[in-house]
Amino acid sequence: MFDTLESRIIIDYEIWVRSDLHIGGHDSGAPGAVDMGVMKDVDGYPFVPGASLKGVLRSEMERLLNGLGKHACSPDKLCDPEKECTVCKLFGGREVAGSIRVRDAYTDSRKTMVRDGVRIDRKKRKAADRGYYTMEVVPKGTKFKGRITIENPKLGEYQYAKLGALLGTVRFFNATSKSLGGGVSRGFGEVLIVPRLIREITADDYLEGRYEGKELVSLIEEDDLGSDLERGELPMSPDNEVDGFIGDWKGYVEAMEGGSNQS
Ligand SMILES: [Zn+2]
Repeated sequence: MFDTLESRIIIDYEIWVRSDLHIGGHDSGAPGAVDMGVMKDVDGYPFVPGASLKGVLRSEMERLLNGLGKHACSPDKLCDPEKECTVCKLFGGREVAGSIRVRDAYTDSRKTMVRDGVRIDRKKRKAADRGYYTMEVVPKGTKFKGRITIENPKLGEYQYAKLGALLGTVRFFNATSKSLGGGVSRGFGEVLIVPRLIREITADDYLEGRYEGKELVSLIEEDDLGSDLERGELPMSPDNEVDGFIGDWKGYVEAMEGGSNQS
């Protein structure tokens, strides 16, 4: 099924790297190269693949819905087409295409560092033979910038339900797992996802050449938003808007569950 484009939400986001981040690329095989390199573009800049972030957001949304006691699919069992959860609506289900796109996120720094690692032989409880290896990381403090788009944010009667689902998930991620990439058990890959500007562009806007659309919310500019973000809060202006979008999502989820109980 193909939906007509009614409106598109554009979210310019950042990833703030809070501890060294390793998102693996292809091993170069070159002599002297690190054993485990990070993903880089053709010009040598590290980036966060949109597919990696999308996968994390999908599983976080499932975890959040499950935590709320609501119906959600799991990666090995997608929902029945008649009873699709918001994860399916946003990321794609058995018969519905996804409506979210997550672009790769880039940084303007080529800086990476190399960390030593040791593979432990679990039986002998010591370093395995030839167990030393080197791992490339993007250092703490790096910021990546990327863009997420959501087609037709409305679900049922709820105008911004899909946007609310995403923002609720980002809040949950920032307050709980905060993890991206490899080596998380070693303390790598602590990140925060920071939406900075959210805009809506309608079909009319496109026809009439208003390609910037309408600004819905922007992040309040402050030097250090760390503590708010640690709590999962997204300090955006106007500050009640984010809660309103998340409210749309909750309203839709409640209406769905109510409807399915009656049938
Ligand atoms: Zn589902």
